[in-house]
Amino acid sequence: MYQRLLGLEEDIFKVIANQKRLEIIQLLNKRELNVTEMAEMLAIRQPNLSQHLTIMRQHKILTITKKGREVYYTLADHNVARAVDLIFHFLQTQYDAGDEISADKLFPIVTDPVCGMRLSASEAFDSVKYEQRTYYFCASGCTANFNANPHKYQYQEHSSKVKRGKLLTSTNSRSD
Ligand SMILES: [Zn+2]
Repeated sequence: MYQRLLGLEEDIFKVIANQKRLEIIQLLNKRELNVTEMAEMLAIRQPNLSQHLTIMRQHKILTITKKGREVYYTLADHNVARAVDLIFHFLQTQYDAGDEISADKLFPIVTDPVCGMRLSASEAFDSVKYEQRTYYFCASGCTANFNANPHKYQYQEHSSKVKRGKLLTSTNSRSD
């Protein structure tokens, strides 16, 4: 039995050893999503996304629930997300991602301005500094949408004094 489980474990690691699938796991760990939402958040086309989802369902990582006509994906078991998370923390420690840890303490919960997902700053896929504010994103698609038109997604308090600024990355604003 143990031997058989090792084989299955190897299979699971092969399935999740893909950046898009790792992102899918991170997203679905926060809430259930349909294909349209995920395609947008991940910036990939639906046929491509469907292939990932099918493989992940075949390996029992994901399940679907139907709400009317809409199909929603969820993690079959959050333990897979915990495993991914543990490796993520391992990397943060090994690569000394001290900035992310302090960001987490300063801003425990942030809202992705593109899709509205609430997430903790430390587990955000990416962050972008724009007009002196830092914006956090759930996944690559939301980051790309923001970078394409940051003005559209700026937080509300800026709306009274509308100005178009240059996009700054988080590194060139201050530290150098
Ligand atoms: Zn998002």
